[in-house]
Amino acid sequence: MSNITGILGREELKKHFNEALVNGKVSHAYIFSGEPGTGKKTVAKSFAQILLCEGVESHVEKGDAVVEKIHACGRCESCKMAMEKKHPDIIFIEKETGKKSISVEDIREKLINDVAVKPYKGPYKVYIIKEAQDLSIEAQSAMLKTMEEPPEYAVIILLVNTDSLLLPTIRSRCETIEIPILSDEIVNEYLKAEYGQKEGIKADDIRFATVFSEGKIGRGMVALTNPDFKLLKHDVIRLVTGIYDMDYNDMVAAVRKTKDYNDILIDYFFELMSIWYRDVLMFKSTRDANDLMYKEEISEISKQAQVISYEGLDLITKAVEKAKERLRANVSFEVAMEMLLMAIQENMNL
Ligand SMILES: [Zn+2]
Repeated sequence: MSNITGILGREELKKHFNEALVNGKVSHAYIFSGEPGTGKKTVAKSFAQILLCEGVESHVEKGDAVVEKIHACGRCESCKMAMEKKHPDIIFIEKETGKKSISVEDIREKLINDVAVKPYKGPYKVYIIKEAQDLSIEAQSAMLKTMEEPPEYAVIILLVNTDSLLLPTIRSRCETIEIPILSDEIVNEYLKAEYGQKEGIKADDIRFATVFSEGKIGRGMVALTNPDFKLLKHDVIRLVTGIYDMDYNDMVAAVRKTKDYNDILIDYFFELMSIWYRDVLMFKSTRDANDLMYKEEISEISKQAQVISYEGLDLITKAVEKAKERLRANVSFEVAMEMLLMAIQENMNL
């Protein structure tokens, strides 16, 4: 993934980083804040690569850097290492699998002790802390001193979904940068450039992933490349197309199956259902299959458009939302799903 696509469509951000570089005002600590999937990690990686690129470095030293033109060359040794995720001066810190938080031990070992060692080759040492909202309070306290008096070469980037759980003392030492969501056009352009040539990925897949992304590249990438997502989509299609003939036992079986999904997949599951009924509604009102997300299921969509009234579609869409709410309110998954499936059946005039 090249640095240019990484900050693609985020002109303001690019300008901001470039100015910091040219004027020698790179902060020692940043918070990159944004919803899950907005590309915080991609932006951080691109920024780290630019900071360490030997091409950029020599331009800045000579004073001939032009603010708009700064980008990592992608050819120097440093860029190559960064792109292969092997740069010794770009350090990723994340919570261990199965753990709920990033522990104070992790922070001591990977940040506090490590930062005392000079960079291996570049002018900076960049620490990227993923899911930094999960830093334990002890870990945050332990970091304070490093954040207060960082070595000249240290750049610490905290990626957070929401910064509310970070200590105010940490926040006040960081420059906070909001990572915005992107337009459909830019996401589409990006996904096309990155995955358009890959085997097994069709233009329709990219279109689906673009709409599903809602401006968050990470979500688009999941929709396009994650095998679990493909299975999930398949399960949703099987459920919404099979719902006519389901009796109580079939429903329980379907519910059991979906219960194995993790939290993110469950959210996606409901979203994929909503998209299905949005397609049915769209086809019912326009009779045009071109813009449907589940275009390949047109015969089934057309059939449902006949047996579900506008009012029924409205009630079904609300029932999907309600199921999501129920889960958030800790209603058991089985109960929430059974109520949803029954609501859908009730609104099909068979
Ligand atoms: Zn370079």
